[in-house]
Amino acid sequence: MSENQHEFWADAVADEVEASDPEEPVVIKGGVSPSGVPHVGHLNELLRGWFVAEALRDRGYKVRQVFTSDDRDALRKVPRRLATSEFELVELGDDRVNASALGRNLGKPYTSIPDPIEGCDHDSYGDHFTHLLHRSANLLGVDVDFESNTELYESGAFEPATQTALAQRDAAHEVLAEYQSDVPDDYVPFMAQCAECGRLTDDVREVDVDAGTVGYVCSGLTAGGREVEGCGTEATATLREGKLPWRFEWPAQWVTLGVDFEPFGKDHAEWRRDRRDGVRPPVTGADDLRVVHARGRATLLLRGERRYGARAARSPRARGRAVLLRAQPPKGPRPRRGATGPARGRLRPSRTGGAWP
Ligand SMILES: [Zn+2]
Ligand SMILES: [Zn+2]
Repeated sequence: MSENQHEFWADAVADEVEASDPEEPVVIKGGVSPSGVPHVGHLNELLRGWFVAEALRDRGYKVRQVFTSDDRDALRKVPRRLATSEFELVELGDDRVNASALGRNLGKPYTSIPDPIEGCDHDSYGDHFTHLLHRSANLLGVDVDFESNTELYESGAFEPATQTALAQRDAAHEVLAEYQSDVPDDYVPFMAQCAECGRLTDDVREVDVDAGTVGYVCSGLTAGGREVEGCGTEATATLREGKLPWRFEWPAQWVTLGVDFEPFGKDHAEWRRDRRDGVRPPVTGADDLRVVHARGRATLLLRGERRYGARAARSPRARGRAVLLRAQPPKGPRPRRGATGPARGRLRPSRTGGAWP
């Protein structure tokens, strides 16, 4: 490339994705919690994925763009402003908002809370705001498949990844404790949803990985900086009745959905190359458009002092068999996917020679 030309960032990311020999369709993911009114950050999340999807389609790849609605996350505070299904902003005091239902439902997953708009008939708070996100994508002409985390749990799709995280909970503790000072010794990377009150609780005391169950006490959680009380129920939940904490749920999405690329801010990720772990997170385009492709340990780094560790993994041969934490070292050199397939990639030049129209 001559010095007078500039490479379009999405082509640079597409180069990285191609270099990872992805299977088709190439899967590009974004995702947000359906916590409230869609905003420009959601637009950014959709469009950054779309630009890379289009760059890969120009090169002849089949691409599936997915967007996860992280709708099993808990409502942590009552939002002051909501939006109707027609994108009309409504304040909390507006009589179209069912404010009392919101207050009663702190600590519950978005999909376990009624639609907050009076007279609106979505199945839940989560469905209401996912609908707005989906409509926003349609208005932009972005062809994207929405995946509900709640459905991924309820269908059992997340169960293998959840079992892996629970089977390796000692390793989960060890990795987290490297970065956080308050990880309890009996840390369990799972939050159960109370069968009695519907709130999430992280007070999980027994784990039976083979049976796929956990014993829990509904002892409340901290939401929005204040304590939400639990109801005290002691019971057993299956792995479909709860959720992974986000730092495990995120790589669970990668392995379950076979993600090849996901854009996110570099404040969320610090990649360390450590091939001993034999793990393979997807390609990521960081906020400053620096592209990082690392096969190794992923350390999620949040703004400020606190650092969280997580290990994402993906089997080089079979999706879904990868481990999330402390993957065993691979035996022998990692096979190159697609090494025996037809040559691909640079056969067709980019439509615009590298610059977006
Ligand atoms: Zn609605
Ligand atoms: Zn409860």
